[in-house]
Amino acid sequence: MIMGLTGGIASGKSTVSALFVAKGARLVDADVIARGVMLPGHPVLAAAVEHFGQTILLPDGTLNRAALGEIVFHDQAALQVLNNLTHPAIRQEIKETMYAMEEEDPQSLIVVDIPLLYESELDNLFKKITVVYVPREVQLTRLMERNGLTLEQATGRLDAQMDIEEKRRRADYVIDNSGELTHTEQQVAELWDRLGLS
Ligand code: ATP
Repeated sequence: MIMGLTGGIASGKSTVSALFVAKGARLVDADVIARGVMLPGHPVLAAAVEHFGQTILLPDGTLNRAALGEIVFHDQAALQVLNNLTHPAIRQEIKETMYAMEEEDPQSLIVVDIPLLYESELDNLFKKITVVYVPREVQLTRLMERNGLTLEQATGRLDAQMDIEEKRRRADYVIDNSGELTHTEQQVAELWDRLGLS
């Protein structure tokens, strides 16, 4: 069984993914796949260099994230070009990875952690989606603490994403991660049972 997992920034996706893995699930991490398409030798990186120029590379041929960020940060059209290059490849690689895992291991739960699952319209890849939820104030506090951000910076990051309440409304299952870790662990165990995995 394949399940999408998402939430807001710093809501606890990695924490909850790790709890599922501890129970025996397998994990597909969309961030790893997204980074992979920008590694040397990948055709997506080659296409990006073709479009934006060699300045997006460091001398050793790896991506210069700061340089690329500088180009797309203030230029909506450039960002659109970058997204058009990367998104289809990321979507394809997520699909290939999760279906290969399912074939290899048909009895296991496969958790696919995708931070911007709804924003990137990847929800149609999944029959079931779990949202890791914390109220906005908790999300802000944890984000400021983890990343050493001011309230203004953290608010800016949150506001660039879909509202967490909207994600909660769209979810098939919700894990509330606002309390103690043991409470989160308990909800993961309950969902595990509900999915018939025990
Ligand atoms: P991102 O997508 O932004 O990388 P995430 O959704 O994967 O984040 P985590 O990294 O799992 O979120 O958690 C965010 C922060 O909150 C971390 O510093 C983590 O240690 C902390 N955290 C997670 N769950 C809890 C909890 N139940 N109680 C207290 N702190 C928590």
